[in-house]
Amino acid sequence: MRAKTKSAPAPSVDLLKGLGAPRIEALRAAGFTTLRALLFHLPKGHLDRATVTPIAQLAEGEHTVRAKVRSLTVPRFRRRVAIAQAVLGDETGKVGAVWFGRYDVKKRLAPGVELLVSGRVGHGKKGGLQFHNPDFEEIGGEAEGIATGGIIPVYPPIPGVGPNSLRRAMRQALEIAGEKVTEYLPEGAETAPLPGALADVHFPPDTAALERTRSRWIFEEFFLYELAMALRRRAATRLGGAGRIEAPPDVDRRIRARLPFALTAAQERAVTEIHADLASGRPMNRLLQGDVGSGKTAVAFATMLAAVAAGGQAALLVPTETLAEQHFRTISGWLKGSRTECVLLTGSLKAAARREALEHLGDGTAHLAIGTHALIEPDVAFRRLLVAVVDEQHRFGVLQRAALAAKGDRPHVLVMTATPIPRTLAITAFGDLDVTTLDELPPGRTPVATRVVAASDLDPVWHTVRLEVAAGRQAFLVYPLVDASDRVAAKSAIEMHGHLSREVFPDLAVGLLHGRMKSEEKASAMLAFRANRTQVLVSTVVIEVGVDVPNATVMIVGNAERFGLATLHQLRGRIGRSSHPSKCFLAAGEAGGDALKRLRILEETQDGFRIAEEDLRLRGPGEFLGARQSGAPEFHLADLCRDAEVLSRARDAAFALVREDPELKRHPLLKREILVRLGDRMGLVDIL
Ligand code: ADP
Ligand code: MG
Repeated sequence: MRAKTKSAPAPSVDLLKGLGAPRIEALRAAGFTTLRALLFHLPKGHLDRATVTPIAQLAEGEHTVRAKVRSLTVPRFRRRVAIAQAVLGDETGKVGAVWFGRYDVKKRLAPGVELLVSGRVGHGKKGGLQFHNPDFEEIGGEAEGIATGGIIPVYPPIPGVGPNSLRRAMRQALEIAGEKVTEYLPEGAETAPLPGALADVHFPPDTAALERTRSRWIFEEFFLYELAMALRRRAATRLGGAGRIEAPPDVDRRIRARLPFALTAAQERAVTEIHADLASGRPMNRLLQGDVGSGKTAVAFATMLAAVAAGGQAALLVPTETLAEQHFRTISGWLKGSRTECVLLTGSLKAAARREALEHLGDGTAHLAIGTHALIEPDVAFRRLLVAVVDEQHRFGVLQRAALAAKGDRPHVLVMTATPIPRTLAITAFGDLDVTTLDELPPGRTPVATRVVAASDLDPVWHTVRLEVAAGRQAFLVYPLVDASDRVAAKSAIEMHGHLSREVFPDLAVGLLHGRMKSEEKASAMLAFRANRTQVLVSTVVIEVGVDVPNATVMIVGNAERFGLATLHQLRGRIGRSSHPSKCFLAAGEAGGDALKRLRILEETQDGFRIAEEDLRLRGPGEFLGARQSGAPEFHLADLCRDAEVLSRARDAAFALVREDPELKRHPLLKREILVRLGDRMGLVDIL
């Protein structure tokens, strides 16, 4: 590959003929200004319209016929929609076709014209078969092959440009600019090279070519993403020297002495690995993953205190105020009697308190900061931030992690997640991190007996709650509604709370916690539950992450069928935290057999990883990698489950390449491509 390519100005979409100014404007508006950019708008699938069916053999379904127009009915109008009809015939028979709202039909068709017609065949009003709104093209006409008679691309829609216009635009873009797209993947990486792979993915000559080219694009999608990961990882570890933190044995002993329990073997391993990272002289970048309840907070604590012992500061970023407050209480408790000062930073902090907290972080009086997004706001500055911890990492994106780290001079970063992530996903989503797994729960835990129950018959469940409360225990009743606004979820929690406190448990104290309550109200509801002043807590999913009330031994989840298994497993992790046996009831409403079967997996196993794998299989990666804002990868052609093997090949290739050519100096085309494609999203601009 040559090192220098003088790039001529890229051909613009204005060169597209016969499309009309409004459509070209629509392309621009969608971000496609050059033909090259347009060519990378890859089809999300293809229609096989290469097979021509004789009319006599038509049946309901998708078909292509080669036929002559026998007769044509001038558009009639019904409710202002033009309806055009035609009779088509070949040697074997005749079939009708009907178009709604297609004003071009009359102009483009006339009796005797020979066509390829593709589309859905169904039953017409009079019972005979007919095509509904089919695509059609004149044989020998200039548009032939755009929508019929071959393997036809189906693109993700671009507003203002219809599917056939887009196909026509693509065809032209390929003719004008296709050959100029030179290969940027490293040699030997893939078998279907550019520019042929581009032509084949848009207009494949046959299914074999389509398969070949598809595997290239799947590989490429993974490869570029993993390359970004490899570059990020290298950037993070490149600069040595700064922030070496030693935790000599006496310091280590003092840190442990602050914990009210002995670490589990898994926690020991994690702390040892982390302390070795801290002392290595290179910034740590580690993912601590552990099933819910495995004790990640204590590991975070040991990590942060090492920074404090070395004369620095540490920060803990969490997704919700409730969780921030809980961590603050726990950690302040562990620090009781020490000189270490810890501040809480959340959005609801009063101005004066916030000012004081910021002052203390700025001058170093405060050693630890625990907070929500408020912690990464621009005006938050540390005197010497050595360790940054992100809890429930899946709620945050790469960029938020970076924003916290930017508050120090290349601090050590620990990210923690309680969502057990299947291995294939872990290496994708967190490919720039080292991974430590807590594969053991603290002693004295009893497995949570889980049962799927019908929402219409909760009396036995209420009975169980009563027995537990009589024995001094407490219950969570989670009444979540997904797909509904906070307001609706809150409303249903409020209603449930009313019902329970008036009719079911008039003799018990029933608390309420939902996302629309004021911070103080939330805090006092949690406090009352923690102190066992309320025995039953009705809540929305605000308790999903991290809430720790070991005395709670019963959980009832309403509408359980609407949730992913991983989310339910997280919820269930709120109980089973003491030596008392715990029970979880998953109340399913109107659920079909599949939903119930899915829920039964939770009856069978407590193994978060198995549950996660199952969820991944059943629901796809969305559950784990959530929305775009979480920085999670979005793959268009590639499928994390189906293509896991390609992923690991792409990852190996990407990491090997970065080892050999860390700044992509010898791969300038690849460097340009990855900057264009992922530069912003993966924060590569400052790295390359
Ligand atoms: P998670 O990994 O879900 O964040 P936590 O850090 O909240 O878990 O810990 C769950 C519970 O287990 C807490 O009540 C915590 O005090 C307790 N715990 C953590 N480590 C141990 C241990 N080694 N021995 C006993 N209890 C522990
Ligand atoms: Mg936690």
